[in-house]
Amino acid sequence: MKNFSKPFSRRSFLASTTSLGALYAANKFAPLAALAQSQSLPNDPRIAQQPIVDKGFALVRKIGDGVYATISDRTKGMQTRSNGGFVVGKDSAVLIEGFQTPIGASFQVETLRSVTQVPIQAALNTHWHFDHTLGNTYYGGAGIPVWAHADAAARMTSCFLLFQKEDLAKFLAPFEKRVNEAKTDVQRQHAQSDIEGVTSLFTFAMQSVLGVPSRPLDPAKMPMKIDLGGLTVVIEFYIGHTDTDLIFRIPERNVVYAGDLLVYGQYPTNINGYPTKWRANVAKFAKFDKDTLFVPGHGQVCGQEGVALMLALFDDMADQAQKLYKAGVPVEEATERYVVPAKWKDMRQFSWGFCVGRTIEQHYAEWSGKPGPVLNY
Ligand SMILES: [Zn+2]
Repeated sequence: MKNFSKPFSRRSFLASTTSLGALYAANKFAPLAALAQSQSLPNDPRIAQQPIVDKGFALVRKIGDGVYATISDRTKGMQTRSNGGFVVGKDSAVLIEGFQTPIGASFQVETLRSVTQVPIQAALNTHWHFDHTLGNTYYGGAGIPVWAHADAAARMTSCFLLFQKEDLAKFLAPFEKRVNEAKTDVQRQHAQSDIEGVTSLFTFAMQSVLGVPSRPLDPAKMPMKIDLGGLTVVIEFYIGHTDTDLIFRIPERNVVYAGDLLVYGQYPTNINGYPTKWRANVAKFAKFDKDTLFVPGHGQVCGQEGVALMLALFDDMADQAQKLYKAGVPVEEATERYVVPAKWKDMRQFSWGFCVGRTIEQHYAEWSGKPGPVLNY
């Protein structure tokens, strides 16, 4: 988790994050080191030890014949922010993810072109979130169709167009109120972390030209297969992190691009999630072959250990919430009282409210049958 114990000046924070230039440079408020890159890679002969290219903000590594992972390092820049990759068959290729900026998407196309000249069938988005789609405009300009869940385009426009009409101060007002009304330092730190998280999301959405997917994929028709010549991409739909989550499986190489349904070395980000269904779907990944390699939405490439960790994080949040619920602790208090276990103290959180807080609120709502005061943005 981020260290929020050192207070930062609100003015300097806003000044340094309200321009994309500052955000591209690096995230000053992510002192949590290069967690994504420092996690050790699974010991697997499919994974090349040397990346084919390392731009700082992201590197691309071969993780199987024709299969590549783009792994972001937000401490060195925010151009990609999410992970992605590409898959190259004998006849054609696909790109995975639109990243946070067109610079990120262009980096991935350039890298793909350094290994093959086969036609690119499509760029696939795992879900509609800003850090996976705001770079789609580059693909559009390059004549590469973007495929995503049928509802992804509508989710992007309804959320991001709203941000583009709003001003940041007004948008942050309810979050500032929570900071000002905090009764304890811990509560204040939690509320400040939400300001940091949503500011970064809002700023990128507000300043980006939207590139909505050009081909809606009907979840009722999944699994869907794309034949690349010798390699197949199998597209499957799992609700969880959002209601538009797709995974891309490459059965011939036993590799899965999981999007944010699976993140490694950090708490699941629950801005638009469904924690109970999400956990149940991640449990299905645990039943995939034991040697499956996963490219998570954020964090290092992992094997089944990444799936087990994600399940343990969900279970710990649910277990602690349930104890508080049974003890009659009100939901507003329960969201603040979750304790990050010592072994996970270095794990990143997008923000307290959008990892722990909202998850606990949703569990309470489920157990009581009453919808709680769900955090909104
Ligand atoms: Zn996401």
